Amino acid sequence: QVRVRFAPSPTGPLHIGGVRTALFNYLFAKKHNGTFILRIEDTDQNRYVEGAENYIVESLNWCHIPYDEGPGKNEKFGPYRQSERKHLYKEYADKLIATGNAYYAFDTAETLDFHRKDHEEKGKTFIYNWHNRLKLCNSLSLSAEETQAKLDAGEDYVIRFKSPQDETLHLTDIIRGNITIDTNILDDKVLFKSDGMPTYHLANIVDDHLMEITHVIRGEEWLPSLALHFQLYKAFGWEAPEFAHLPLILKPTGKGKLSKRDGDKLGFPVFPLAYKDHQTDEISRGYREDGYFPEAVVNFLAFLGWNPGSEQEIFSLQELVQAFDLSRVNKAGARFDPDKIKWFNHHYMQEQDNNVLAEQFQMLFPDALKDIDINYISMVIHLIKERATFVTDFWDLGHYFFETPTDLDEKAVKKAWKEESPELMKKLLSIISSIEDFTVENLQTEIKGWITSKEIGFGKVMMPLRLALVGALQGPEVFDIMYLIGKDESIRRIDNLIN
Ligand code: GLU
Repeated sequence: QVRVRFAPSPTGPLHIGGVRTALFNYLFAKKHNGTFILRIEDTDQNRYVEGAENYIVESLNWCHIPYDEGPGKNEKFGPYRQSERKHLYKEYADKLIATGNAYYAFDTAETLDFHRKDHEEKGKTFIYNWHNRLKLCNSLSLSAEETQAKLDAGEDYVIRFKSPQDETLHLTDIIRGNITIDTNILDDKVLFKSDGMPTYHLANIVDDHLMEITHVIRGEEWLPSLALHFQLYKAFGWEAPEFAHLPLILKPTGKGKLSKRDGDKLGFPVFPLAYKDHQTDEISRGYREDGYFPEAVVNFLAFLGWNPGSEQEIFSLQELVQAFDLSRVNKAGARFDPDKIKWFNHHYMQEQDNNVLAEQFQMLFPDALKDIDINYISMVIHLIKERATFVTDFWDLGHYFFETPTDLDEKAVKKAWKEESPELMKKLLSIISSIEDFTVENLQTEIKGWITSKEIGFGKVMMPLRLALVGALQGPEVFDIMYLIGKDESIRRIDNLIN
């Protein structure tokens, strides 16, 4: 039974890379009829941001990748917030001390700072490990009595993992294959602090074990922690889950990691939903508010580091579940291409229900559209959506369905309005006026029939006609436009142009 978790820390809005991690976990879980779990890793109280958890949940829901188990949902392995599991971790830290895999350390921040600076001056890096630990203040350098005395006196301590000397670790990662690590370069990471809080490493491993996680799928930035995590499983005598570290997401230039700050600088959102920073009141753009469809965002994110091994690019969520395979995830960084996500959005625009789009469009342009029949708006959208990427594009593409065009496009006038045009338009007016049943078919038959029988040339009629209706030489079929705006309005617009 596959069980995977997305384990964000609620330290701010979820970055689009976090959504990719959640998506890959979701796809893997669904592919194997497994369970997708949300766990909130909020042990670092200093970095906790109010509202961040809600933001995460709302983002997953918007993408249609809800969790199966997590805060407030199927809490069999709960609670799912680490702050609510606080009481659990000390016992495990104690176990590691009892088995000689961890130890108490009493060094003050000043002492550690001193060593760091001292090493730096000599061009070295200070690592708290086998090499240095006996020179420092901890239960390995002190006697048992001295250690106990410090604990009894209530001195601040941390519990550190005792990283072994001269060992070679053989790690495996589904995406990266075999990795060997020399333990001599590892530091004795802090697992627990005397304020009663575990660090990320301890809480993460204990919870993955207790929640029976089978696969850990997470970002590449956690790869350096893998050696410690492997050793922790071994120290506890637990079977480790399988690991898959997803490739970095790179800036559009392909150089460097895409960061939370890049979006505003480069002009595209890096967050799923718009987000207001409560400290600075600054608003960051989100894909939802910028008019992207969740299907487009999901389809785009799926391709950040994964490919199906075929030419197919358009995948519904269901198809992604079918096709997804961790063995087809790349090691190399994935370049974030903001144009590609627009391309996906344009595609998914065509699949949206016109009535739903009409309501969204009406809401975005209330001044112009609030009194207009929703069915009319929906028919307009049917005609123009082919060229639209966002709902907001509808206005530029189709404003003339809702208002008489006033400013005529100069180039269009030059191209379409010729000496003979007024005469032709007058004739056309009389034909149009005589059409009783104002349907697309009748318009087409009458107008085309007239042009052919008089051998006038289509452009000579159709171009000025389009100019009158649209104010430019773009847009859908002229007869469709006339049908929608109606006979009176069509006549009025042609009339306007003649006079
Ligand atoms: N809390 C970590 C994060 O914020 C989780 C890393 C992991 O998945 O192990 O990404």
